[in-house]
Amino acid sequence: MTRPARVIIDLEALRHNLARARRCAPRSRVMAVVKADAYGHGLTRAAAALEDADGFGVACLEEARELRDAGATQKILLLEGPYCGAELADVRRLGLDIVIHHHAQLDLLDAAPAGAPINVWLKIDSGMHRLGFDPAETPAALARLERNGNAAAKVRLISHLANAGAPQDAMTRRQVDLFMETTEGRRAERSLANSAAMLAWPECCLDWVRPGLMLYGASPIPGAAAADFDLNPVMTLESALISVKRVRRGEPVGYGAGWRCPEDLPIGVVAAGYGDGYPRRAPPGTPVLVAGKPCALAGKPSMDMLTVDLRGCPGARVGAPVLLWGRGLPVEKIAECAATVPYELLCGVHKRLEVTERG
Ligand SMILES: *Cc1c(COP(=O)(O)O)cnc(C)c1O
Repeated sequence: MTRPARVIIDLEALRHNLARARRCAPRSRVMAVVKADAYGHGLTRAAAALEDADGFGVACLEEARELRDAGATQKILLLEGPYCGAELADVRRLGLDIVIHHHAQLDLLDAAPAGAPINVWLKIDSGMHRLGFDPAETPAALARLERNGNAAAKVRLISHLANAGAPQDAMTRRQVDLFMETTEGRRAERSLANSAAMLAWPECCLDWVRPGLMLYGASPIPGAAAADFDLNPVMTLESALISVKRVRRGEPVGYGAGWRCPEDLPIGVVAAGYGDGYPRRAPPGTPVLVAGKPCALAGKPSMDMLTVDLRGCPGARVGAPVLLWGRGLPVEKIAECAATVPYELLCGVHKRLEVTERG
């Protein structure tokens, strides 16, 4: 047997979740966000399954090039825009849209040689204070774009929400109101909603929506389950037991010897660890499914292995399948145990893992 740790990508779930996103925003075009290797799911694999999307959002030129090389003809938006002037030649050659969020990027556009017009999405900082022009600067930035021969005449307006996963959040209310005020009467296409906003703030579904996490079947709303929104998990991380033994009460398990058996225990060793992308911070008690039965981590995750308290599945033998997250054990649950977000776990799965596609 080769090392049993592997990732399974359910392409049918990806298509289902895209259809679900469309139902959330029936009047919007959908820009599927596939940055960071499609949140760890494989960029070209995910994009092929998401071919019905109206566009793809990526973080950088390299990701956009990979999509075009794989034959993607949809709109592709560089969410952070160009990092240097030299990228603008590739932007034109590949037919990409760019975000412009800073005067330094307007300088790049001014300095670029004349050529085919580039589609620009002007980013407004509605309150997250990460990227974007201050609302008060927006008219001047738009005027600069109009004077610039390299930008297409049709400019789109975009902003990002800091806390859309919290329903009734006062800050989100202020961000939405500020974006609406700033963009009102401009007759430009607008985009505001990420996954959380699509589910919790339907009024944010403007001309374009930008779902990421929900497409991968995880809930972007803390405390809510993906199933509550009819989203199906796309990624499953699974492996198998490579050892089962009994460990006596009071004996330690794993590195640091900080965790001890509360009674005589069957301890299973799973061939998966933080070297595969499982979070090292996951504490003892974090759920694991062994042959479909709920068990719990015992001791700290190591690089290639996890130790599990098998009391929930006392009959388990070497070779028993182990599910670390996926269908039946939401990645959000593991993220919560490890004090992180599902985004980090999904995009942290390691390249060493074998990937199997389903659907
Ligand atoms: C990553 C990203 C998204 C997608 O966010 P999700 O929370 O995954 O839906 C949307 N817009 C921008 C600008 C992003 O960077």
